[in-house]
Parts: sequence; C-alpha cells; structure tokens
Amino acid sequence: MISARGLRVRLGGSVIVDGVDLDVAAGEWVTIIGPNGAGKSTVLRAVGGLLPFSGSVGLDGTPLDRLPRRVRARTVATVAQAPVVPPGMLVLDYVLLGRTPYIPALGRESASDLAAVEEVLAALDLVRLRSRRLDTLSGGERQRVFLARALAQGGRILLLDEPTSALDIGHQQEVLDLIDRLRGERGLTVLATMHDLSIAGEYADRMVLLAGGRVVAAGTAWEVLTEELLARHYRVRVKVIDGGRGPLVVPVRG
Ligand code: ADP
Ligand code: MG
Repeated sequence: MISARGLRVRLGGSVIVDGVDLDVAAGEWVTIIGPNGAGKSTVLRAVGGLLPFSGSVGLDGTPLDRLPRRVRARTVATVAQAPVVPPGMLVLDYVLLGRTPYIPALGRESASDLAAVEEVLAALDLVRLRSRRLDTLSGGERQRVFLARALAQGGRILLLDEPTSALDIGHQQEVLDLIDRLRGERGLTVLATMHDLSIAGEYADRMVLLAGGRVVAAGTAWEVLTEELLARHYRVRVKVIDGGRGPLVVPVRG
C-alpha cells in the first residue's frame, strides 16, 4: 500500500532523511519511533506528498509523483503534529475542509460531501460538537476533529504525526482505540509516529526505529523495543518488561 525506497529529504541544506526504505501493507498499522529530530515528521510529510524528496514513494503501486494532486488527496490524508486551525472556525466547517479534493474550483460542496461529513461526525461522536468553535474544545475532542477531517477525505491511507502527544493517558487510549476500530471498519492503512514507546508497541503491527534520518531497526515491538537499541539511540537506560500483550518500556535511574 505504501512503499518507499531510498527516500531522501534535504531541508535547509542538510540531509534530514537519508535513504529510508519503508513498507506498509494494506490494512497494516506501522509506527515510526525515534528520538527528537530523527526525521519522523519529515518522513511522514514526504510520504504524504507534502515535501519534495528523492528516491521513490509508491501508493498502491503508483509512484506518488504520478498521482495528480486531487487524486493523491483522495488516497492519503495527513494529520499533522499540531494542525493549524483558522481562529474561530467551527467543527463542521473544519471537517468539511476534508472534502476540498472533491469540490470543483469556485464550486460549492455537494449533497454527497455533506453526507460524507455527517457520516464521519457520527462515527467519531462529534455530532453534538458540530457547531462549536474548535478553539473551545478539549484536547481529546480536538484530536477527534482532526481525525474527522482526515477521514472525510475518504482516503484509504492515514498518516498520523504523534496523534496523542497532547493528551492524557485516558484520552490517548480512547483516540488510539478509535483509530484502531476505524482501521478495521474502513480497511484503513495507518502510518503513525509516536513518542510513548510502550503505547506505540501496543497498537502497531510493526515498528520502525529512525535515528539520524536512517532506519536503524524495524520489526515487531519485541524486536524494536530492546534495551540495547533504546540505550544506543535514545541514550537512555530502560528496562523492557513483559506487559502480557507486549513489551513495556520503563526508564530507570542509574
Ligand atoms: P522528528 O519528527 O523526528 O522530531 P523532524 O522530521 O521534525 O524530526 O526533523 C528532523 C530534523 O530536520 C530536525 O533536526 C529539524 O531541525 C530539521 N528540520 C526540519 N524542518 C526543517 C527545515 N525546514 N529546515 C531545516 N531543517 C529542518
Ligand atoms: Mg516530529
């Protein structure tokens, strides 16, 4: 579904992503972890077609650069780490922005655009918030609205940049469970970045550890979340313990 080969991104004269290979199968959830500045957000933005890159990215077998912009936007939706929200914007209008790739230039939204938005608002329990200003919502509610906009785009691929880093653990779990449920119901493919390693491991089918713009490990949570790899790349002492459903990473004081 997503296949990147030799992905390279230069920003401000430096190589930020340096030859990344990455595969995400249809319906799979892959999470990229790595220390601050590793290039996680940059990889997501390149895969989403939001940044120039060299190497190749294919979506469903078609090279990204051969997909017309509107077709690409109907295939893949990105939720940025901190989406920019126009001040005073209402929930309904924000989610409707997801329909932009379907609305002709100078045209208006059609009945099917409005129906798609209504369907997503219902699925994400946002109906009662539809007329609220986004800037009056709690963090968890706002995160659901960001997801709603991405889902309204109607694509099969979701790129999520730290979808829960602004949330408390209860709302983290709620949002991640929601994403996982939608993945099953709608057959979505998910490529995410996450900070919390234990939680990342619980939800991902596979993980990719990025450091210095390169993939330094990839595999199951047990293969990637090892004391050695985390010590080497995060410069942290951790214990990895068996949480029953997967590895739990606990930082320990030296
Ligand atoms: P991560 O998401 O893993 O924390 P990012 O992908 O945001 O990392 O950034 C990786 C590196 O690229 C950082 O060192 C950051 O400073 C640098 N970077 C990001 N955007 C730019 C830019 N526009 N110009 C120069 N450097 C950038
Ligand atoms: Mg980032």
